[in-house]
Amino acid sequence: MLADLVLAVLTFIIGASVGSFLNLVADRLPAGRSIVTPRSFCESCDTPLAHKDLVPILSYIWIRGKCRYCSASIPMRFSGVEALTGALFAAIYFRYGLEGEFILVAAGVSLMLVVALIDLDHKIIPNKIILPSLVVLLILSPFWTEMGISRTFLGNDNLGGTVINSVLSGLGASMFFLVIALIYPSGLGMGDVKLGGVIGLLVGYPGALLALWLAIVVGGVVAVGLVLFTKFGRKDAIPFGPFLSMGVVVALLAEGDLLSWYSDVGDLLAGT
Ligand SMILES: [Zn+2]
Repeated sequence: MLADLVLAVLTFIIGASVGSFLNLVADRLPAGRSIVTPRSFCESCDTPLAHKDLVPILSYIWIRGKCRYCSASIPMRFSGVEALTGALFAAIYFRYGLEGEFILVAAGVSLMLVVALIDLDHKIIPNKIILPSLVVLLILSPFWTEMGISRTFLGNDNLGGTVINSVLSGLGASMFFLVIALIYPSGLGMGDVKLGGVIGLLVGYPGALLALWLAIVVGGVVAVGLVLFTKFGRKDAIPFGPFLSMGVVVALLAEGDLLSWYSDVGDLLAGT
């Protein structure tokens, strides 16, 4: 119990540090800047930040949300992303323990967070992230079941079954988005089509179905809410990436629990 708590705090701290890095990637990658050098600096006064300015969440609280050098306020979003990533890593620990799945799921969650942040800011899903992810996920596709995340095709969870499940899910999700993008080009772009491939390969079937369903339902509710209650126009595009990312994160974390509920409801509807 105590060990659980200590490990949860530890995974939170690791997650918050990863979140700090995700902020940096989301900030620099679309602008084509290096994610290695230079070290982070204040956006207002260009002062390079010291180590004590870079402690996730705590630095922000310590300096009360203002730059120590020029007292420009720092957007709360950075700490928000750090706290969210930390909380998700702790949740992954509770769901999967510290086995190999932890690294896989944590990497998948981090990828989806970066995609969501960049899509929110720039309304693009960069090839620089998506294409390498597709390659890595294709290479990983035979091993999911072996790594403890069950993935089957027609009841087969051997290498072949796992590959077919992943690849068909990837193709299915991107085909689905391609059809929507062709019918409704201002709604979805080619970035979403490629992201569909990543999602299918990452979550497999039926996880990808759950992720898409959640993204469409939550995205739809938010879109209607924005049009009804804000000055948001019907024509303003809402980036879909963040909703997809949310769906994938839930599917990765809930695989098993929510999915068995989901298939129970499916059975109920099918009358079996
Ligand atoms: Zn400053």
